[in-house]
Amino acid sequence: MTDLHHQNPCRLPTLLLFTLLSMIGISVLWEFKFEALAMQWLNLPYDSDFEDAERWRFVLTATAFSLLSLIAPTLVLKRLVANTRSSYRRLQRVQLLTEALAKYDSLTGLINRRIFMESLLDQLGRNHPAAIMLIDLDHFKAINDQHGHSVGDHTLIEVGRRLQDIARLYDGMAVRLGGDEFCLLFLTHKEENELVEIAETVLSKLAKPLPETKGFCRLGATIGISRSWLDAQEASALLHCADIAMYKGKSNGRLTFSFYDSEYECQRRAQSELEVALRQALEGEEIVPFYQPIVILPAQEIVGFEILARWVKPDGSIGMPADFIPVLERLGLISAMTRSLVKQACRAAKSWDGHLHLSLNISAAMVADQFFPDQLLEQLTHEKFPFNRFEIEITEEALVGNLEAAQRNLSRLNSHGITVALDDFGTGYSGLYHLTRLSIDKIKIDRSFFEAGQTDHLPMVEAILGMARSMNMKVTAEGIEDFHLPHLPSWLADNGCHYAQGYLYGRPQAHVEMVPVLAEFPFN
Ligand code: C2E
Ligand code: CA
Ligand code: CA
Repeated sequence: MTDLHHQNPCRLPTLLLFTLLSMIGISVLWEFKFEALAMQWLNLPYDSDFEDAERWRFVLTATAFSLLSLIAPTLVLKRLVANTRSSYRRLQRVQLLTEALAKYDSLTGLINRRIFMESLLDQLGRNHPAAIMLIDLDHFKAINDQHGHSVGDHTLIEVGRRLQDIARLYDGMAVRLGGDEFCLLFLTHKEENELVEIAETVLSKLAKPLPETKGFCRLGATIGISRSWLDAQEASALLHCADIAMYKGKSNGRLTFSFYDSEYECQRRAQSELEVALRQALEGEEIVPFYQPIVILPAQEIVGFEILARWVKPDGSIGMPADFIPVLERLGLISAMTRSLVKQACRAAKSWDGHLHLSLNISAAMVADQFFPDQLLEQLTHEKFPFNRFEIEITEEALVGNLEAAQRNLSRLNSHGITVALDDFGTGYSGLYHLTRLSIDKIKIDRSFFEAGQTDHLPMVEAILGMARSMNMKVTAEGIEDFHLPHLPSWLADNGCHYAQGYLYGRPQAHVEMVPVLAEFPFN
């Protein structure tokens, strides 16, 4: 094939000319010299009186026929050779392309994941050092969405170009692992300060304006770094370490780089185990309502209970809401949990005195959810729990940013007789704005106002009580404990506080433990 490829194009006419001349020479020699000798030698009769013209005609005919018999197959052959040659070239091109595709990313021209892994395996297999710098573009999807896929592609090409420059500068390899994930691979030992310098260079180079978006968009990236001599000696484990380091950066607010940290990985693993366990806990109704009494002042008689979520784990230990509610919120499971608590609490309350209220804490995400009021009303109807014995508690934080939706939802619930209480009052915004704009019936003064030895907060409590009175709102004082006796409850009652809640009247308890409490306390 290679011979064909390099064949001299002048060879064929030369061959034909050579054949022509040889044929003429041979026929002339034959006709004028060797024919008589040959006939004589063969002892055959021979007529030597031929005219020269006749002899020349023979020479020409013989030459012409042999030329014809040569030209036709030569032309066919020539065509065949040309065809073969072009097929070969095509094949070669495809082969080169296939080889390139197997090694390089077709969009950016950078080394692809396969070659990256091969190089890494080879390097680590020979016990040589390798460092991985995993680079994940931040908000690349937004560029794709806002400017279209073609701009997205050009952005990736530009990123590839910038990374390639950096790789050259620091003796590394630039790799596109797929999507908007890139990587720099260094097959030498690099000091931490040099890696820091490279990571900073990557961040600053990628942050330069992108010509494709006419400078409107700048790229951010999050970088995770792992080193074979510190983190892992096996290729996929080293890549995993870089991945974990990158996630650490993402959770730290992006636009940053992080080195692999085994402690962080342990936390992350614990977190994902917690998530799995929580999903199961929710399905298995391990998350149950505990009930904390709320008393009316000055009588200090129980008028209802606040539902406080507890996770009763299979080993009997109890998980507190601060540890699992934020996780459920992140997983989008908080309304499922709330639904489950409402179901359990309404069923438990069937055996209680028919005047007792239930108070439920509502997360920010639910306050603004347009389906929340109807779902709650429908569930209470289904459980046959009167609306006027039900209360929801929301915090001011939950209202911020969702004011309009919250306004709609709260007034809908309020119009059905459900009480709305503003929880932890005094810790957040404590804005009159929220109190006046929303359908709020009750304020719960945060327990931090009643901490041990904190009597200097009492003027503030007095002011809140005065304000609530003028706005015709009820008030609950939270966090009333034993050490406050005997003055605080009576002081609160004298100052117009309607309800109190705290360890003095009872800690949050499971339903089974409530029976003696319910028997002991007089009801309102
Ligand atoms: P919160 O709504 O302010 O609930 C009152 C918290 O104060 C409860 O903590 C309760 O155990 C505690 N507490 C009550 N009386 C006293 C007292 O006298 N002294 C002291 N030191 N503490 C007292 P808990 O049960 O750990 O709940 C913490 C927070 O978790 C709640 O604060 C609430 O914001 C949230 N939470 C609890 N259950 C739920 C729920 O079902 N859904 C939602 N969205 N949040 C919940
Ligand atoms: Ca509450
Ligand atoms: Ca509270």
